[in-house]
Amino acid sequence: MKPTAIVIGAGFSGIAAAASLARRGFQVDLLEKNGSPGGRASVWRKDGFTFDMGPSFYWMPEVFERFFAEFGEKPSDHYELRRLDPSYKVVFGKDDEMSLPAKRKDQHILFERYEPGASIALDEFLAEAKIKYDLGMGELVYRPSLSWMEYARPDVISGLLKTSVLRSLRKHVRDHFDEPRLRALMEFPVLFLGASPQNTPALYSLMNYADLELGTWYPMGGMGKVVDGMLNVAKRQGVQVQLGCSVERVLVEEGRAVGIVTDRGEQRADVVVASADYHHVEQHLLPEKHRSYTAQYWAKRKMAPSSLLFYLGLDRRVPNAEHHTLFFDEQLDVHSAEIYDNPSWPSKPLFYVSCSSKTDASVAPPGHENMVILIPIAPGLEDTEATREHYYTVVMERMRTHFGLDLRPHVVLKRGYCINDLEHDYNAFRGNAYGLANTIMQTGPLRPSMKSKKVKGLYYTGQLTVPGPGVPPAIISGQVVAELIEKETAQHTTARAQRPKVITA
Ligand SMILES: Cc1cc2nc3c(=O)[nH]c(=O)nc-3n(C[C@H](O)[C@H](O)[C@H](O)COP(=O)(O)OP(=O)(O)OC[C@H]3O[C@@H](n4cnc5c(N)ncnc54)[C@H](O)[C@@H]3O)c2cc1C
Repeated sequence: MKPTAIVIGAGFSGIAAAASLARRGFQVDLLEKNGSPGGRASVWRKDGFTFDMGPSFYWMPEVFERFFAEFGEKPSDHYELRRLDPSYKVVFGKDDEMSLPAKRKDQHILFERYEPGASIALDEFLAEAKIKYDLGMGELVYRPSLSWMEYARPDVISGLLKTSVLRSLRKHVRDHFDEPRLRALMEFPVLFLGASPQNTPALYSLMNYADLELGTWYPMGGMGKVVDGMLNVAKRQGVQVQLGCSVERVLVEEGRAVGIVTDRGEQRADVVVASADYHHVEQHLLPEKHRSYTAQYWAKRKMAPSSLLFYLGLDRRVPNAEHHTLFFDEQLDVHSAEIYDNPSWPSKPLFYVSCSSKTDASVAPPGHENMVILIPIAPGLEDTEATREHYYTVVMERMRTHFGLDLRPHVVLKRGYCINDLEHDYNAFRGNAYGLANTIMQTGPLRPSMKSKKVKGLYYTGQLTVPGPGVPPAIISGQVVAELIEKETAQHTTARAQRPKVITA
């Protein structure tokens, strides 16, 4: 008899966990509350437009390769990847913008234009970041982080001693670059981790290596193609997928998870893996005595930002927009403080615009553009229609200044999306978009544990546990939890088999 597993939630982490568990010999059921898979990476299609509702930056391609390789496959068996060049454009002010080229030699030219000598500083910065990347994203990130002892290896210690790890990323960047625009460019990637550069350890300059060296990619057809590819792999491994199936309770008997209850009834399994938001599962699907963390614990966690998004169909092309355009034309520190220090709606928001139709003709009708606007905001804010409209006007005005074009008359399709939707659609704690921030105090074993402290056979995966926010970490998280479960299930079975038999007369 195969051991059985139930995975709650079909986002990247849940699909990765399900596929990997099935490969390891488990009979797996993957249950998703929504009618389509992908979780935060859902797709919205309407009137000939296709929108990636969540992630749009495809970074760290080798993480995707490693996932598919687990099953003897390649990303190219499922989707076509294109490297973007420029990776993205940053708007700093009127007639002041910078496009980041993909090749290092072109990056050198760009950096020298802003600051003489900065190309040498860039090479030094990235050589150091590569050590961290190879160390961190090689084997270390594929560990469950149940204890610091997992990292106590001579190569790790010597690698860490060679690099700056614990000081803030901001200080690290400032030691290398003086020019404010170069500094902003180098601080941008850590925003993906959900924390400000002042509060992010310099360990995460590995993200700069991912950005500048490994590049920004795009799966033709959109991120939904990646979800489809991974789900096909899972199904071929025998995973049974149930969409539109909301888990209401985790069943615990004698301190062990034995299944779940859904709106369709009870289903039993040897292990339960929760990939839905950790907070939701602990606080809503488990009785208090079985929770590893209290409500007070969660209240003190630093969540990564939420987002106000607009998905727009435009009846014309936008010549000055790139596939990815970042509006850094207001002060990052002010907006950052309004997200992290004094949570409030931003006074002068930075925002991000994505038009995948720049690269991919399949996502908008001919002569049209699909535009996604994202404003990062503090989680848990009051989300009203009036507030959304206020910010719609703000970003439209800013784009009018920079693109020299009022886009409003060209909007033929419009959908706003914010905290209330994230809570409703994904049971997202405080409407967070990117999970639990990777601050110094929320890294590795200091994050909520992959393994329940109270209930045997109950595991967690996804962006609120290790390793952290973002698509590549979510996929890794799913693979790591599957490996952990395989090991622990084998130990459990061996221990049971070795238990001395009681001989009764
Ligand atoms: C707007 C936005 C932009 C982003 N941009 C990027 C980017 O450019 N690059 C990048 O790498 N990352 C980006 N991210 C982050 C990335 O999308 C996430 O880190 C990743 O998708 C999280 O995957 P997950 O599996 O941990 O969680 P989720 O995707 O949230 O999956 C959890 C699943 O559980 C389901 N669920 C919840 N409750 C239940 C229940 N009771 N029963 C059954 N199912 C349930 C949910 O519906 C969901 O499908 C972005 C996220 C957002 C929201």
